Amino acid sequence: MRRLFRCGYSVLTALGLVLWGVVALANPIVEGDWVRYETERFFVYLWKETPLERLGLGSPDPLRAKLEEIALSLENDLKGIEAASQLPYDAALHGKIAIFVYASLEEYQRRTGCYLCSGHVTAVPNTPEIQALFATGRLNRYAVYVHLDNTPRGLGGLSIGLPQEVVPHELVHVLDLTLIGGSKPGTLREGLAVYATFKADATPDELQFGLTNQHLRLFAETDTPDLLSYLTGCSSRRFLYSFGGSFIDFFARKAGIGAFLDFYRRLQGERLTLPNCSFGFSLEQIDRLFRQTLQQSLDQVRQEYHAYLRTIELTEDGQFSYDFVMDQIFNRAIYLEPLLIEGAELVRLTRAVWAGGRFDKAKASYVREYILNARNYAVSAERVANAVKNFARVRSFVSNYMDDPATRSQVEQRLRELEELAKTERFEEFNDGFVALVFQYVTWRR
Ligand SMILES: [Zn+2]
Repeated sequence: MRRLFRCGYSVLTALGLVLWGVVALANPIVEGDWVRYETERFFVYLWKETPLERLGLGSPDPLRAKLEEIALSLENDLKGIEAASQLPYDAALHGKIAIFVYASLEEYQRRTGCYLCSGHVTAVPNTPEIQALFATGRLNRYAVYVHLDNTPRGLGGLSIGLPQEVVPHELVHVLDLTLIGGSKPGTLREGLAVYATFKADATPDELQFGLTNQHLRLFAETDTPDLLSYLTGCSSRRFLYSFGGSFIDFFARKAGIGAFLDFYRRLQGERLTLPNCSFGFSLEQIDRLFRQTLQQSLDQVRQEYHAYLRTIELTEDGQFSYDFVMDQIFNRAIYLEPLLIEGAELVRLTRAVWAGGRFDKAKASYVREYILNARNYAVSAERVANAVKNFARVRSFVSNYMDDPATRSQVEQRLRELEELAKTERFEEFNDGFVALVFQYVTWRR
C-alpha cells in the first residue's frame, strides 16, 4: 500500500505540539509505552510510537481525533454485543475495559508473539502503572489487544476461515470471562464471540451465518461427520469458531440466547479418560445439560443440527469459499508474501475476500492462481530473509492445526533445512523448498 507521506513524527510529537498544557479529565496522557485515553467504559491505550500518518489526518489534532474515533466505535460495539449476547456490562462494578492498540498488524504480532491472531484478550500487562490502576478497582483484569489495521473494528478471522469484525469479537470474550468465567470448551467460548458479533452486525443474519453454515455442511459431509464432538473441547481446531457460532445460533433459534447461556453457565470442565484429552466436557455431561435446558437428548440435538445443516443451500460461492479455507489460501499468501513479486498487493486482496460478510470469488480466484504461478516469484537476499522471519507464523500454524506429532516434526526438520539454505545463500533452492513446504503442509485437508 502507498504511504501518504514519510515522516518521523509520532504520537509523542503530536502530544507535545498540541495537547500538553491542556487540562481536562479525558485528555490523553503518556504512560510507559502508551498514550492512555479514558472514556465512559474504556481505557484506550495507543502505542506511543504510532506514526503520525496512522492517526486522524485532516484533523487539527490527529491524535485526539484517532482516540475519539476508537472510543466512539468501542462504546457502540459494546452496546451492540451487550444486546446480542444478553450480557449487560457494568463498568462501575467490574471496572473499565483496557484496550491496547498497536500501530499495525505486523507490530502487534511481533510484540505479542500471537502470529495467527488479529486481536486477542488476556490479562492486563504487568507494568507498575497498570497494576496500580488495577489495584484501585477501576480496571477490568481482562484487556483487549489489537492494532490500528483493525481499529476501529476491522476484518479479522481470515486465518480461521471466518469473516468477522475483530474488536466486537474480543469484547464478547471480555464480557464472557468477566460475567460467566469458569472452564468452558474453546468451541463455545469462541462461538459466543462469533455469534454475538454476527448478531450485532448490520449485515443480515442469513448472510452472516449462511456462508459459515455452508462450510460446516461440507465439512460434516467430507471430513468430520459428528460436529457435536467439538463440544467436548477435545477436537481439532479446524472450523472450531465457525461451528461454535453456528451451533449457538441454532440453539438460540430453538430456545433463545438466554437458554443457551443457562446451558453454558452450567457446563463445567471435568477429568476425561480420552487418549489425547485428559480434561474437557464429557458427552454424558452435555447430554444431561441438553435435557435440562432444551428438553432433548444429545442424540436428538445432534440429529436435528445435522438435519438443519442439510437444509442449507449449497452455492457455487459457498463451495469455492470452503475450498479457499480448506486449502488455507489466506495463510499461504501471508507466508509466501516476501517471495511474491506483488506480495503486498496480493495480501491486500486476500484480506478483501470476505469484506462485508460476502465472499468475493473473483478476488479469491486471483489469489489462488497467483500463488500457484512460478513466474510470480522472485528471489533476493532480502526476500529470503523476510521469508525466514515468517517461519514464526508457519510454526504457529503447525502447533495449532497439525494434530499428528510425526508430521509436526517433519515440518520442523524441513524449516531448519531451509534456514540453513538461507544462511548459505542458496536462495533459489530456498525458494523452491519453501513454496513446496507451504503447498504440502499449510492446509486443513487431511
Ligand atoms: Zn476469539
